[in-house]
Amino acid sequence: MSGSDEAIWSAILAHLRQHHVGICRRWFDEIEVINIAGGLMRLCVREPIRRRYLERECADAFSEAGQEVTGMLMRVTFVGDEDEPADAPQPAPDASQSLPKPRTSPTPAPRPLPNPAAEQLALNPDYTFENFVVGPENRLAVAAARAVADNPGESYNPLFLHARVGLGKTHLLQAICCQLLLQRPDAVIHFTSCEEFITQYMDSIAEGQMTGFRHRFRDIDLLIIDDIHFLAQRERSQEEFFHTFNHLYQARKQIVLSCDAPPDQIPALEERLVSRFKWGMVAEIEKPGYETRLAILQKKSSIRGVVMPDDVMSLIATRIDSNIRELEGTIVRIQMQASVEKRPIDLTLARRVLGETASLPRSRVAIGVIIETVAAHFDVRPSDLQSKRRHKSVSQPRQICMFLARKLTNHSLEEIGGYFGGRDHTTVMHAVRTTAARMEQDPDLAVQVKGLESSLVSNRPQA
Ligand code: ADP
Ligand code: MG
Repeated sequence: MSGSDEAIWSAILAHLRQHHVGICRRWFDEIEVINIAGGLMRLCVREPIRRRYLERECADAFSEAGQEVTGMLMRVTFVGDEDEPADAPQPAPDASQSLPKPRTSPTPAPRPLPNPAAEQLALNPDYTFENFVVGPENRLAVAAARAVADNPGESYNPLFLHARVGLGKTHLLQAICCQLLLQRPDAVIHFTSCEEFITQYMDSIAEGQMTGFRHRFRDIDLLIIDDIHFLAQRERSQEEFFHTFNHLYQARKQIVLSCDAPPDQIPALEERLVSRFKWGMVAEIEKPGYETRLAILQKKSSIRGVVMPDDVMSLIATRIDSNIRELEGTIVRIQMQASVEKRPIDLTLARRVLGETASLPRSRVAIGVIIETVAAHFDVRPSDLQSKRRHKSVSQPRQICMFLARKLTNHSLEEIGGYFGGRDHTTVMHAVRTTAARMEQDPDLAVQVKGLESSLVSNRPQA
């Protein structure tokens, strides 16, 4: 690499930190430029999980930054150890995050065999045990997750983690993968969402490829299924999962599941699965208290390399008290605002950003107002939303109403069901989950629902 390559890379990094704050991490400082030639910038990133994160999430932003800085078309490629020129400097060991490599000096050991199953895991480099803040609300869940990563198939099988949305389930599941791969790089892990399990199952049946499906889900050391509550009301998938479970369990292979409810509160789940889910360890992650929220903010700011004054962090931890994803989103929004205004982060700036977005106290929005607002938005009659009609034109808006009612009022699931034609609490829970899942998949819908929410919150009567 030349000095000018390094200068260009520094400028690119500065550009990224200015214009793409959401993707930037403090460890970007450790990325080294190998060379820039012929419109191609080669960057060395030794740790595979980080490298795959960059390839997945950051390649376009890096190329764009390269073009901005040099005024030339630039493509970027992330290179690991194996592709490096022979005289490249040796990596600084980072025992906490990097996958172990049997490379020792002076004679390099043979390269580890690639682990195709590990290659396919789309792991987030942020989601390690190290980056997970332990507090009284999650202590048991973390201890169980660590035990499972250290002794898969032996300590708790299955491990069943449950929590409401945004409280760290996916993070802990991925931490188990990272930790196990550190200790056993050859471990065969299958990590998937429940929806993916269902889709793959349906596709395999349609294509007559059940052998391949069963191989993927059964000939492995660790099966992790995220958001298993999506098995609710899926009879055939439940049946297949039952056999998958038995097969792995009997072979003493580890199973880890996450869910938004305890096993016996998953609607319409076969009893034999409910009982199996309770065979090992069931651990809940509860809503974090103020101290834990503050510690999480400190951790997240440090991962992102953001300097957040203490008073700003206390303000955020006080104002946002439910979903951790929102806490992190707030850090990014404040960071962006500071970068747009080219000023340091302080309380005034944070107050302004929070003023626009903070979760406001629940229960101030009347459920009747939610029904009227949603009905007007979707051009249906309020009475239709409260009827038993099942047509999609009313059932979707009705589910959105239930979702908003759950979020913006203090009514219980039963009470909410009562407002919508006497539906029971499982229907409300299903509506809330379905709407959340659809919002994740459909950005348009997410914008509409968030818009409805902000207008409900801003028009609520003042206390
Ligand atoms: P879930 O899967 O339960 O909906 P996620 O695992 O996606 O939640 O977590 C949402 C965000 O909150 C992630 O960015 C995650 O890193 C963060 N998070 C949640 N709990 C913690 C914690 N105890 N320490 C650090 N980060 C946390
Ligand atoms: Mg999740």
